[in-house]
Amino acid sequence: MSAKVIDCVAIANEIKEELKKEIEECKAKGATVGIATLLVGDDFGARMYRKQVEKFCEEMGVEYINENPPVDSSEEDVVNIVKSLNENKKVSGILPLRPFPEHISDYAIINSIDVNKDIDCFHPYNMGKLTLGEITFAPATPSACIEIMERERLNFEGAEIVVVGHSNIVGKPISLLCLNRNATVTTTHIYTSMAGNLAKHTTGADVLIVAAGKAGLITPDLVKEGAFVIDVGINRVKVLDENGNPVLNEKGKPKTKTVGDVDFEAVKEKAGKITPVPGGVGAITNMMLMRNAVKACKLQNGLL
Ligand code: NAD
Repeated sequence: MSAKVIDCVAIANEIKEELKKEIEECKAKGATVGIATLLVGDDFGARMYRKQVEKFCEEMGVEYINENPPVDSSEEDVVNIVKSLNENKKVSGILPLRPFPEHISDYAIINSIDVNKDIDCFHPYNMGKLTLGEITFAPATPSACIEIMERERLNFEGAEIVVVGHSNIVGKPISLLCLNRNATVTTTHIYTSMAGNLAKHTTGADVLIVAAGKAGLITPDLVKEGAFVIDVGINRVKVLDENGNPVLNEKGKPKTKTVGDVDFEAVKEKAGKITPVPGGVGAITNMMLMRNAVKACKLQNGLL
């Protein structure tokens, strides 16, 4: 039987409507929900993400500030920009867009963000609170995974949840959020694969959450029959024809498409529930960031 494909775009739209109301309520009380992005230089991926943030701020009536100092700015200059955003009443949340240039330390920038404006939970203070289960802001992508599981009424207690990936921004916080809900959590990563042990763990998963950044990593033999599979990965791959040759676009260049880390078509036949890519976790991630910006606004204005 084919898996239920979770309609993450519909979930995102539902949350969007809920948040629009909350944003209006804040405005009516004289409080501004606003997001500032901070991009040093012009990294392509970071610019693409900034464009998305700008778009949904506009759609949802949220103030947006674009800080984009040049790539050769000093660390002190960038820290000063963060300090002025900390003071700005129109900015409820600050979103640093990485990577920063090599001469600027992530640590210096992240640590200068007001912890009550740290809407993607980068600051060690907020990560510490997340670890303790006393959350102010949970990071957006891990929160999107939790939102999906909660909306599907997953009983976390005792559920076998296996996470593939252990980065500080995705895999590790997802594992902690599930652990805080009393799931039995196994975190796997590249060294698990290198030791030949990935399948041993993933085939025992009631819920398999994959955030590795490797297209085609999860094939049906790695999935338990009826499992709930959440694909966080985002990869650009070449489109191939039936003989395995690249399909070319009108400019004669290979066509590309976005896929996750899961072999969707094959795994769909074995899983019980599955999220697609595109139109999956990423769609909800944006709304989780916005939810944190609204919470931050309320926190800063005594409205919580
Ligand atoms: P990262 O490169 O920082 O971490 C990748 C993790 O995957 C590491 O823990 C690594 O050990 C593990 N890994 C890599 N290859 C593996 C393998 N063969 N077997 C097992 N584990 C392996 O990446 P990240 O920032 O955590 O992002 C992961 C993926 O999620 C990327 O594709 C990224 O584009 C995507 N992403 C999606 C969203 C979203 O909203 N949907 C947000 C952030 C990141």
